[in-house]
Amino acid sequence: MSTFKIHTLGCGSAKPTLRHQPSSTVIDHRGNLFMVDCGEGAQHAFQRHRLKFSRLGHIFLTHLHGDHVLGLPGLISSLGLGGAGGKMVIHTFADGKRILNRIFNFFSGDLPFEVEFNVIREEEAVILDTPSLTVRTIPLDHRVPAVGFVFEEKPGLRHIKRDMIDFHQVPFSMINRIKGGEDFVKPDGTVIPNVMLTSPPTPPLSYAHISDTAYMPEIAEKIGPVNLLFHETTYLDSHSAEAAQRGHSTARQAAMVARDAGAGALLTGHYSSRYKNDEDFRKEALDIFPNVILNREGLVTPLD
Ligand SMILES: [Zn+2]
Repeated sequence: MSTFKIHTLGCGSAKPTLRHQPSSTVIDHRGNLFMVDCGEGAQHAFQRHRLKFSRLGHIFLTHLHGDHVLGLPGLISSLGLGGAGGKMVIHTFADGKRILNRIFNFFSGDLPFEVEFNVIREEEAVILDTPSLTVRTIPLDHRVPAVGFVFEEKPGLRHIKRDMIDFHQVPFSMINRIKGGEDFVKPDGTVIPNVMLTSPPTPPLSYAHISDTAYMPEIAEKIGPVNLLFHETTYLDSHSAEAAQRGHSTARQAAMVARDAGAGALLTGHYSSRYKNDEDFRKEALDIFPNVILNREGLVTPLD
């Protein structure tokens, strides 16, 4: 059972089609939900994924284009009907705070929960730090200010070896310190090294979300060897000139970033409506990078 899953609510691009929804992704980390972008229809897709609104505490906006944002007024308005308290943190640029505040005040004046804005900038920075996870930004190259987000699990505690704990009669009060890496000193002064009492922690998992952007070879190093990389594949290589001009990437370019970052897998998406066969994105990416997951609405991708 995976503790880190990526739900694809929408993987189309700006021009509406009946085949894809606009951009929205939900990251489920140990039952806590984090939304990245909120295109139109995201709240319905959220329900189709059987996700719980009460678990959603953070919404991250990559940039302020309509196909990434316009589902948000509806979502916030609907959440207001639920009557539940709590807090929703929206991570966006200063312009996003200014515009969304006005919309929320007009349509959803008396929300039963608090909306907090965390103003982010187009720079590399850690923007969220929880006991189990950090989120950092990577500046992108789009027609308006844009950032990607990297979700990184913090290293967990070491796993105790129950039989050795019992054998050396380690008291219950010491267990957390042992999990943290301390040796155990017996009452007679004998030191039991931590490696005899524990096994290494589960390797931390990570996910990067890169959309929208022109091809930026230099971001591979900034992303690093994440388990899963979502990188937009708006175009195929036959339209690479248009991709560059519009601030987007081709499937081939996304695969090069995945390869150069050392990612475990590449998740495609943000497909231009001009293409009728999504398989072409996979084929093109596979020429460069072996582990390509063809994105679609309804897809749930576990990281472990
Ligand atoms: Zn855009």
